[in-house]
Amino acid sequence: MMCAQACSLVKTGTVNPAAARIRILDRESSGITHPVLCQHCVEAVCVPACPQGAIGKDAKSGIVSIDHRLCVNCTICRAVCPYAAPVYSAAEKRVVLCDHCGGEPVCVSSCPTGALQYVAYEVDRPGPRLSAMAEIRVAVNGKERRG
Ligand code: SF4
Ligand code: SF4
Repeated sequence: MMCAQACSLVKTGTVNPAAARIRILDRESSGITHPVLCQHCVEAVCVPACPQGAIGKDAKSGIVSIDHRLCVNCTICRAVCPYAAPVYSAAEKRVVLCDHCGGEPVCVSSCPTGALQYVAYEVDRPGPRLSAMAEIRVAVNGKERRG
């Protein structure tokens, strides 16, 4: 997947999809693939769940991020996240989240088909986006957490 390869290259300096902040969930049942990454949730359950108080949500941008000075890599955030979005990057020896690449996400620019888009999200108008994410949540919980 070009998006994961590009993400890992930008974030770690090497192509290593295991360290990418985005991963692709392949749903064999429907033949549909979904990107899985941090949704920077309005009600981010990872924030109160972190025993270290290491996760914060920026009031202005809405970005959820991890303070690596406090994080102890326990991965509780991943366990409580509806999408299992936090990734333990062995290459960096830390838990990481998508940070939107400062507003110019390389996963989007590297996508050869234009399947990924970076668009404004209107909280009051969830529409099909939340429906899609609900499907992804079910798929992630049902498929990846069993392992
Ligand atoms: S890590 Fe999960 S719960 Fe936390 S903001 Fe991202 S998607 Fe939401
Ligand atoms: S892995 Fe880090 S950020 Fe996640 S819950 Fe543990 S201490 Fe908090």
